[in-house]
Amino acid sequence: MKLLTSLLLLTLLSMTASCTKSETHAPIIPSLKVDGTQLVNENGEAVVLRGISYGWHNWWPRFYNKESVKWIAEDWGADVVRAAMGIHYEEPELTYNAEPEKAVELISKVVDGAIESGIYVIIDFHSHHIELDLAKKFFAEMATKYGEYPNVIYEIFNEPVEDSWEDVKAYSEEVIAVIRAIDPDNVILVGNPHWDQDLHLVADNQIEGVSNIMYTLHYYAATHGEYLRERGDYALSKGAPIFISESAGMEASGDGPMDYEKWQIWRDWAEERKISWITWSVSDKDETCSFLKPSASSTGGWTDDVMNESAIATRRFLREKAGLE
Ligand code: MG
Repeated sequence: MKLLTSLLLLTLLSMTASCTKSETHAPIIPSLKVDGTQLVNENGEAVVLRGISYGWHNWWPRFYNKESVKWIAEDWGADVVRAAMGIHYEEPELTYNAEPEKAVELISKVVDGAIESGIYVIIDFHSHHIELDLAKKFFAEMATKYGEYPNVIYEIFNEPVEDSWEDVKAYSEEVIAVIRAIDPDNVILVGNPHWDQDLHLVADNQIEGVSNIMYTLHYYAATHGEYLRERGDYALSKGAPIFISESAGMEASGDGPMDYEKWQIWRDWAEERKISWITWSVSDKDETCSFLKPSASSTGGWTDDVMNESAIATRRFLREKAGLE
């Protein structure tokens, strides 16, 4: 009996020791790759990532910290976050084009936080126009700094607006070449015209000769409907992998009432096809898509009274999928 107690004590002590160890080292998570149209892990098993995007870093820098990432990972059950590195002209303060070092510092806080929390992170070049030189410089730096980490996914163009697919494709090929010269394998997300809705054009003229790339589809459920899902299905039928790197349950303006019915149709569509999805966004503007109220802390600990309804619903969906409720 005494021996058994000692053994039990030893076991408990060694368990405590290993827990302490895992807290001081970043958890190791599976590398991702693309097999056909499916995101998979290193064993070839299908992976569906679900999570949320931060808002533009230049407008909501206060949320760009490791503590908020930890909260989103643990309390929301997200397995991916997206850091949206802003490129902007009207209010250039803190944008990458105006203050690149500060921008990289803020983005890095979220990336480092994701690595420490053991979740995936999308490094998103949040532009609406082609900025080839800026993008090449930025992704060379990011691939050098983070290419070794399985956590990192590069998103090289948030939402092209007026550029043609031919131009976006040419831009993408150049940026992909810069990344691949440094990092041979991490997944790269590629945008397409009209806010990532022209998947039918992508389907017929895909980027060739590069592995581990996926194409982004963005939807706002109250605005974008069946036609966009049909384009997505067409792209999949042509072998083009899809990642929903931005979406939400209201209009494309980010405002107006939630449409839960249409949002559910979209989420079912994605889940049935094992497509990863991200909801927009961690910010505190007075609009439907902003998850938080200005009274919310910058570092997580968000209770229902500081969350908007899109946040409360998104958190519930993520927690259900993560088996937290
Ligand atoms: Mg790599």
